[in-house]
Amino acid sequence: MSSPILRLALPSPLRRLFDYLPPPSLVADDLQPGIRLLVPFGRRQMVGVLVEVVSHSDIAPAKLKAALEVLDEQPVIPQPLLRLCRFAASYWQHSLGDTLSCALPLLLRQGEPARRWQEPFWQVAEQARLDDPRLARAPRQRQVLQVLAQHPHGVPQRLLARLQLNRESLNLLLGKGLVEVKTHRHTAVAPPAHWLAQPELTLNTEQQAAFAAVQAKAGEFAAFLLDGVTGSGKTEVYLQLIHAILQSGKQALVLIPEINLGPQTLSRFTCRFNARIALLHSARSDQERLDAWLAASLGEADIVIGTRSALFTPLPRLGLIVIDEEHDSSYKQQEGLRYHARDLALVRAQQEAVPIVLGSATPALETLHNAQTGRYQWLHLAQRAAGAAAVRFIRLDIKSRPLDSGISEPLAKAIGQALASGQQVLVFLNRRGFAPVLCCHDCGWLSACPRCDARMTLHQQSGELRCHHCGHVKPRPKQCPDCGQVDLRPLGAGTERAEQRLGILFPDYPVLRIDRDSTRRKGTLEQLLSRVQRGKPCILLGTQMLAKGHHFPRVTLVAILDADSGLFSADFRAAERMAQQIVQVAGRAGRADAPGQVIIQSHFADHPLLVQLCEQGYAAFARQALQERKAAGLPPFAHLALLRAEAPKPKRALDFLDNACLLAEKQQAQLGSRVELLGPIPAPMERRAGKYRAQLLLKAASRRELHRLLAPWLVALETEHSSRRVRWSLDVDPMDL
Ligand code: ADP
Ligand code: ZN
Ligand code: ZN
Repeated sequence: MSSPILRLALPSPLRRLFDYLPPPSLVADDLQPGIRLLVPFGRRQMVGVLVEVVSHSDIAPAKLKAALEVLDEQPVIPQPLLRLCRFAASYWQHSLGDTLSCALPLLLRQGEPARRWQEPFWQVAEQARLDDPRLARAPRQRQVLQVLAQHPHGVPQRLLARLQLNRESLNLLLGKGLVEVKTHRHTAVAPPAHWLAQPELTLNTEQQAAFAAVQAKAGEFAAFLLDGVTGSGKTEVYLQLIHAILQSGKQALVLIPEINLGPQTLSRFTCRFNARIALLHSARSDQERLDAWLAASLGEADIVIGTRSALFTPLPRLGLIVIDEEHDSSYKQQEGLRYHARDLALVRAQQEAVPIVLGSATPALETLHNAQTGRYQWLHLAQRAAGAAAVRFIRLDIKSRPLDSGISEPLAKAIGQALASGQQVLVFLNRRGFAPVLCCHDCGWLSACPRCDARMTLHQQSGELRCHHCGHVKPRPKQCPDCGQVDLRPLGAGTERAEQRLGILFPDYPVLRIDRDSTRRKGTLEQLLSRVQRGKPCILLGTQMLAKGHHFPRVTLVAILDADSGLFSADFRAAERMAQQIVQVAGRAGRADAPGQVIIQSHFADHPLLVQLCEQGYAAFARQALQERKAAGLPPFAHLALLRAEAPKPKRALDFLDNACLLAEKQQAQLGSRVELLGPIPAPMERRAGKYRAQLLLKAASRRELHRLLAPWLVALETEHSSRRVRWSLDVDPMDL
C-alpha cells in the first residue's frame, strides 16, 4: 500500500499547496489537519501547516520529499480557523500558507512549541537540610538556602534577584541536589460565578432596544450596525452584551482599532468583569501574544480584545463578535494578505453562527449601505448617554484671511476666549513636523525627496528634512543646494510650527503637542494625557492620534486647522475620511454644562459636502455621499480590485500591467465575464523609495463577477514572464487608490 501524502500550506507567496511524505518513522494515519510540520524546502527548512491527507499526488513518488518532524500533537489551527483562513486566502487572492502565517502568533510560525510560558521556580529539595556538612565551609550557599527555605512554595525566577538570591550559589546548590527547579503547571482557572466586578449602568431606552435586538439573535448569525454618536453609550451596550454572553458560558471577541489602545478603552473592560481577558495587540511581547492566543484557544480566556489580527484567535466557545469603530482604516491590512478585518469578521460570524455588532459614530459608507439595504440590522443611539450637549459646527472661510502658522485671526480669538473662561481647547492638524516643504526664496528650489515624487518635511526640533513616504532623512541645509543663497523659508505648517505659534499667542497656557514625534518615548503619551485630564485650561494640539479613543471632558472648543485636503483628492474615499475625521475629533469634546464648538478652517467653506456635514450631521452627509457613489458607479455600488506593480525602471511596471491587461481580456473572452479594466496608469505618487509604481484598476458590478476573473487571471499572472521583473500585488477591495 502506498504511503499517504501530506498536503501542506507553506509560508510562500505561491498560490498552491505542497505535497510531502510523512516523516520516515511515523504512522501518518492519525495526523490531523491543522498541525504544524517541519519540512525541507529548497535548501531551507520551513514550518508548514497540514491542510489535508490525500492518497495521490501529481508529483512522482520518487520526487516527493519527506517531512522532517511533526511539531504538534493537537492541531494549533482548529477546523473553524482553517476554514476562515481558506476563505480569506481565496477572497483576497493570497496564498493559503501566507494567510495562515498571518493568523498564527509569530512564535508558532517559527516552529516554537505551542506551550504557554512556564516560569521556572526554585525551591529547597525535600531531603535537603540546612546543616548539611557540605555547606560547613560555604556560608553564602548556606545563606541562600536559608532564604529559600522561607518560601516553601518556591521562588519564581524573576524574583531571585529581588530576594538577593545569588545565581551562582543557587547553581552550586542545584549541583549538590539541595535545591530544585520546577515549572508550575498551568491550571485552568474555573470561571467565576459572578462575572461583574462593578455594577452595570441602567440602559436608557435606545440602549435597551439595541441590547434586546442583539440578544434576540444569540446563538445564530446576525449582523448589526450600532450607529451612535460619540458618548451615546455604545461601549456600555457592548459590555452588557458581553456579560450576557459570559453568563451563557461563551466567549466574546472584541476588535479595536490599532491606535485605540489607550488605557481608557481597555480599562472599561478589565474593570467591569471578573473574567479572564486575553489581550492581543502590537505592544505585547511575542510570548505574551502566544500565551493569550493559547489561553483563548483552550477556552481559558473569556474575552479576547485585540487589534486587527486578533480576529484569527481560535475560540472554541465563541458567542459574540464586536467591532468597535468599524469605520477605522486600520482594520484593513495594507501589505501581504490585504484583508479587511471587519469584512472577514462578518464571514467568521456567519461561519460560526454568532451575532456580530459593528459600532461607530461615523459608519463606513459600505456599512451604511448594508444597513440601508437591510443586510445589517440598524440600531441607533441618537442621544449622548451622560447628557452632554451636542456640539455646534462653524465653518470658517479662510479664503481671504492670512494664516500665521496655519492659524487665522478669528480662530486665535476664539481660542483665547475659551482659555480665558477656564476651558481646554483641542487643535487638530493632521500633519507632523514644522512645515511640509522648505523653499528657497531666491530661486524657488523646493526640498524634494531624492527617492520619491514628494517633498521632504522640515522638522525644526531635530534640524532635519524627512520624507514621510520613504523615511529618507538629511540635515536641514544651511544654503540653497541650487543657488547657494541662504534665504530658505518653510512653507505651510505642521504641528511643530502650530505649537510654536500657539505658544507665542498664549504664553500663559501650556501647549501639549501630541503626535508620533512628541510621543516616541514610552510613557510620554500617558503623561501628556494625564495632564489634560487634570482639567486646567490648556491647548491640546495634535494629529489623528488625538482623534481616536480618548475622551476629553473639559475641552469645549475644537479647532480643525485644515479640512481642505479631503475635498479635492484623486481618491474617491477622501471626502468620507475627512467627514469621519471631523466628526471623530469633534466627538472628543463636550460636557454637560458647556456646549461644545467646532471651528473648521477651510478655503472652500461653502463646499456642499462640508455644508451638509456641518449643518445636518454625518448621516445626511453619508446619504449624499452614497448617492454620489451610486451615480459614479463606485463602491459600494461596484467592486474593485487593484493590481499594483513597481520596478526600478518606469517602463517595466507599465509593461507588466499592459501584459496583465491583455491576459485579462483574453480570460474575459473565454469566461464571458464583464469586468472593466481601467488603466494601467502611473500611481498617484509614481516614484516612491526609488521605485516606479503603476496600477491597473478592475471594476465589476458584483463580487461574483470580479472573482470569476481574478482566480484564473492570477494563476496566469504568476507564470507570466514579465511578472518576474517587477514587484506586484493584488488588492481586492482596495482602500487607497
Ligand atoms: P460611546 O462608546 O458611544 O462613545 P460610552 O459607552 O463610552 O459611549 O458612554 C459615554 C459616557 O456615558 C460614559 O461615561 C458612560 O459611562 C456613560 N453612560 C453610558 N451609558 C449610560 C447609561 N445608560 N446611563 C448613564 N451613563 C451612561
Ligand atoms: Zn535657491
Ligand atoms: Zn521619500
